[in-house]
Amino acid sequence: MAAPDPLSASMIDLHQLQLEDALALLQHGSQTPLPETTDAQAYLQSIINQLCDLSLKDPLTGLANRRHFQKVLGREIEVVTRSGEPALLLMLDIDHFKKVNDTYGHPAGDAVLRTVAQTLANCVRPMDTVARFGGEEFVIILPSCQGLYGHQVAERIRESVSAMNVTVSVGVSIRVTISIGGAYAPRWVRSTSELWLDRADIELYRAKSEGRDRVCIEPQPILAVSAEEKNLLFGTLSLGDPSWIESMANDMSVVSSGSAIHRVN
Ligand code: GH3
Ligand code: MG
Ligand code: MG
Repeated sequence: MAAPDPLSASMIDLHQLQLEDALALLQHGSQTPLPETTDAQAYLQSIINQLCDLSLKDPLTGLANRRHFQKVLGREIEVVTRSGEPALLLMLDIDHFKKVNDTYGHPAGDAVLRTVAQTLANCVRPMDTVARFGGEEFVIILPSCQGLYGHQVAERIRESVSAMNVTVSVGVSIRVTISIGGAYAPRWVRSTSELWLDRADIELYRAKSEGRDRVCIEPQPILAVSAEEKNLLFGTLSLGDPSWIESMANDMSVVSSGSAIHRVN
């Protein structure tokens, strides 16, 4: 027998649900008013939706927040380990942002953050994740990001931001630049999202120290796998056909050398 649906309208007594804390949270944190409806299920659903938004989104920019980003990043590194699909992580930081606050005030800084966030979101594919990492730092996860595409996207983002005019008060608009660091997830090996982030952060640091308003992306690691290892990796699937093994290995940009699977960059 099917379990009764706990949300069926007849079983919900909103007065007994003790929603006060949730409603107080939404009153302060959500910009969308709850619907005026007598449909208990629709009302509860909108409370749930808005609580989800609050826990996953950055309130200033509307982008994914750091918590949501960490979750997506952890999932993506698992995918790359299993599938070998190249995925790129970009870390972006607004240049000399403190000066914007100091010169034009904190609300002007907030306006810049919102405009940069919108520009980043407009530059990427629906499958990519753009998040506010904290302060004036943003991160972008680009799954299935082949070869030169990553550098082109990062350059396009950098150029789009530097072309923006942000109105900070009547008759005053300003421009900002960003520095971008990027690193690809290691393929076919176990790693951690912390290490991936560290590598992107090192590249961002390099972009800053080389003069800002630029993109630095770590070269994609080349994998070296011996013929024997290719057999171990693909032999059982290919029923031992060496030409199939060779073509699979080449497809995945895997080259033959030494004895262990290792990164050679
Ligand atoms: P760099 O080019 O080296 O990145 O210099 P920077 O000035 O951008 O970096 P710094 O870390 O010195 O300053 C970051 C500033 O960002 C300081 C902080 O007050 C400001 N900031 C952080 N979060 C917010 C925010 O939510 N709103 C506003 N308006 N400012 C913020
Ligand atoms: Mg910073
Ligand atoms: Mg900065």
